Amino acid sequence: MTKHELKPNEIIFSKCPVCGETKTYCQELAIKEKALGHMRKELNFFLKVEQGVCLDQDMDPKLPFGTVLPSYIICYDVCANPECGLIRVVKIVEDMVVKQKRIDIATPGQNPDIPPFFRGGKNPFHN
Ligand SMILES: [Zn+2]
Repeated sequence: MTKHELKPNEIIFSKCPVCGETKTYCQELAIKEKALGHMRKELNFFLKVEQGVCLDQDMDPKLPFGTVLPSYIICYDVCANPECGLIRVVKIVEDMVVKQKRIDIATPGQNPDIPPFFRGGKNPFHN
């Protein structure tokens, strides 16, 4: 698979489903920090980010390195409306990642079973 085929897909949830507010707390903090020159303009800031790979753990040992799998990044923030404050999803990034062998330097007594890791995927903190 070429890099060109690894296209991330972003789903943006622009409004609070409860009150309709478009601003979020951490986003507003980031705007203030950018105005002060403390944060790069192209970066995003979220309350919490969770990411993972859609993978059957029992199948993982059977999948060869180089296998391309779907991954997700879910970004959460707090509704900026002081009468609401709902913690909600603001962005989901769907992407593809490549199963790769982790390259670690083993130390004496360390478990020799080195698990695979997954490389690729969009950085959700960049616009
Ligand atoms: Zn709200």
